[in-house]
Amino acid sequence: MELKKNISLKPYNTFGIDVNAERFIEISGIDELKSLISNGLLQQTKFIILGGGSNVLFTRDFEGLVVKNNIAGINVDKADHGMVRVTAGAGIVWSELVDFCIENNYGGIENLSLIPGSVGAAPIQNIGAYGVELKDIFHTLTALEVATGEARVFTKEECRFAYRDSVFKRELKGKYIIVSVSLALQENPVPDTNYGAIKDELRNMGVDETPGIQSVGEAVISIRRRKLPDPEEIGNAGSFFKNPVVSMEHFKEIQGKYPDMPFYEVDAEHIKIPAGWMIEQCGWKGKSFGDAGVHESQALVLVNHGKATGQEIIKLAMNIMTSVSETFAVELEMEVNVI
Ligand SMILES: Cc1cc2nc3c(=O)[nH]c(=O)nc-3n(C[C@H](O)[C@H](O)[C@H](O)COP(=O)(O)OP(=O)(O)OC[C@H]3O[C@@H](n4cnc5c(N)ncnc54)[C@H](O)[C@@H]3O)c2cc1C
Repeated sequence: MELKKNISLKPYNTFGIDVNAERFIEISGIDELKSLISNGLLQQTKFIILGGGSNVLFTRDFEGLVVKNNIAGINVDKADHGMVRVTAGAGIVWSELVDFCIENNYGGIENLSLIPGSVGAAPIQNIGAYGVELKDIFHTLTALEVATGEARVFTKEECRFAYRDSVFKRELKGKYIIVSVSLALQENPVPDTNYGAIKDELRNMGVDETPGIQSVGEAVISIRRRKLPDPEEIGNAGSFFKNPVVSMEHFKEIQGKYPDMPFYEVDAEHIKIPAGWMIEQCGWKGKSFGDAGVHESQALVLVNHGKATGQEIIKLAMNIMTSVSETFAVELEMEVNVI
């Protein structure tokens, strides 16, 4: 472990924001993390744990310690009822874990193909895509308590997963560092192809009625490549805002004015409205202010065209939130972690 000073974080965040970390360290094992805790470093210093940096927006230099988590390792254990338990180190790249599972025909994870970032960050916001969320395949996770260095196993219930949310974004924020995540996957999987876009993509690919998880993974990857900007080409952190959930009454009011508005029913009393649609209606799609912009085909994604600062991105985000609030009386919530 080498403690570095004044390191640019540009290569460590997918927005490509050029800020410095006062101190920076990479850890590759649990023992290294334990020693940072037993030395008192994490308790005495402001710190942040970073995986792939694909869900953060740095708004200023980080005056503290950035811990880049590279904890590796994948283990597979047989479980009952045709299930396998796959446990991965928090520093493994999420999409590499998905590829590993698909290659071994462990199913349930394939709809989450190509989501950037690390395994350890996946539970933080209960990552989700194409009708599947992490919680659907989650078994347990192990995390070290920052205050004591003690390992604790969290069950699904204890993680309190919700839409892009968990206990680690709320009550336990900054209190635990996730070191491994265990998934419960099917050994002879029957993929879920009910999600409309996947069905269409499989049909375009010429895949028959009973596709394997490999085909579903490929379909998801090709949809994502078409729809989402690649951070290698243009800085971004995926969806910048969550899709807001409104009451049925409020929904009906908006629908009265915008009959073509897309929506998803959450339950009998709540409706989810795509934030990207609202942002587009407010005229923001494709707009740029200096190097900070709204993606030209995905209004939910804010982008860095080159040298945008985090402050410029956040200013744009605030202006969008105000305009959506004034137009629809809906308050958008940021999905990205602003630091
Ligand atoms: C192009 C693009 C597409 C995306 N698509 C999706 C999508 O479809 N669905 C989706 O849900 N998300 C999506 N995202 C968001 C992002 O990929 C996920 O949130 C991902 O889980 C972030 O992982 P990370 O390792 O990059 O986290 P980071 O950005 O490094 O960290 C995110 C937060 O988690 C904390 N954290 C990280 N690791 C740990 C740990 N081990 N223990 C405790 N805290 C930790 C950090 O401190 C930070 O607060 C997308 C992002 C991009 C750029």
